[in-house]
Amino acid sequence: MNDVNQSNKFVTEEHKVPTNYEPEPTIVWWKNGDHPNDDVYRPFEDTGKKPTEPREGKVVRYFRHPSISGDSICDNCQRIMNDHGWIDNGGEGQKVCPGDWIDKNLTGR
Ligand SMILES: [Zn+2]
Repeated sequence: MNDVNQSNKFVTEEHKVPTNYEPEPTIVWWKNGDHPNDDVYRPFEDTGKKPTEPREGKVVRYFRHPSISGDSICDNCQRIMNDHGWIDNGGEGQKVCPGDWIDKNLTGR
């Protein structure tokens, strides 16, 4: 007799997915102005005039780094860093490669 009570309890409970589940709203970023909240034609703060050329995006900004040259090649996508964007998330920030998926609801800082 082996009366060791082994706990052979199989977990059969399924993880239920809520029926109203929607995937995170995202966009694919390729270049400055691609984010819907970039607002690249917002008036200039000092003059109040509307720009004729797109400005730097409010959400995805230009990639600028003091120690990374704009001509250097990205490890992730093999494109030059000047083709990249930057999201200021309050921490160290987030590099955006062309073709990256990013949250559509970001509003910029
Ligand atoms: Zn990249």
